[in-house]
Amino acid sequence: QVTVALWRHLQSLTIAVEGELVTSDGRLMGRLDLLFADVDDAGQLKGWLVADLKTGRAPTEELKPEVNRQLRMYRDILLANNPSAPPVRTEGWYTKTASKWTAEGGSVLEQAYAAWEATQPTTMPMDPTPGPDSCGGFCDWKAWCQHWWNWRHENGTLHKDDFSDAVVLLHEFEPNSGSAVIELCEPLDGGIRAIPTGIKKSAKFDGRGKDALQEVLASQHQGPLFLGSIMTAQSTWRIGHWCDVLPWKPILDGVEYIREN
Ligand code: SF4
Repeated sequence: QVTVALWRHLQSLTIAVEGELVTSDGRLMGRLDLLFADVDDAGQLKGWLVADLKTGRAPTEELKPEVNRQLRMYRDILLANNPSAPPVRTEGWYTKTASKWTAEGGSVLEQAYAAWEATQPTTMPMDPTPGPDSCGGFCDWKAWCQHWWNWRHENGTLHKDDFSDAVVLLHEFEPNSGSAVIELCEPLDGGIRAIPTGIKKSAKFDGRGKDALQEVLASQHQGPLFLGSIMTAQSTWRIGHWCDVLPWKPILDGVEYIREN
């Protein structure tokens, strides 16, 4: 149990609060809430204690595997960066039940590096996975991927949701107010070409959505734009801080892609 008296005691033992943890190669990072000196009854240092404050539901038997892994990663980065560190323990501290749960197990660094490698972009586009749980939801890659667009077009859901993705042409834009006229496009040739439909919509770009549009325009991009999560419930479509505003540049399947800088 974390009592007030214990908390005061812990304050005197604090080494770091909200410390950033980064491996020396910069690939893995985390942010620990608290790092304490772990002392025995005689006040002698016996190690370090990493405590992560948790506001969610507390465990009843043991930490969830993903929380256990997260806590061990903090421990392992700390050990990797401090070869002469004393033994390090790590615990999740749950505010709802004022309980502490220890994370135990071997090093997770090897698995963490393998996961990092798996996130590195390949030069050949990966196989698409169109479907309601992938393209139908949030995906960072839609401005470069033709498959969500084709999938929506074929199943009749293009531009039908209250928050819709679209490939559009920008006909008018007034930078002060953010007011614009956009024309919806439809996919051709499997989504690698955009065909204007003649359907025009009034639109309003706000905040970060407007800034992003101005950045795209300043980059001299010409041609269609990808707009992600446009709010379409009203007659004037809204593109705000929650939206992606990017040049539409589909990457072709089966063709090696080298990123321009
Ligand atoms: S939009 Fe493309 S990259 Fe994203 S989930 Fe669909 S197929 Fe995959």
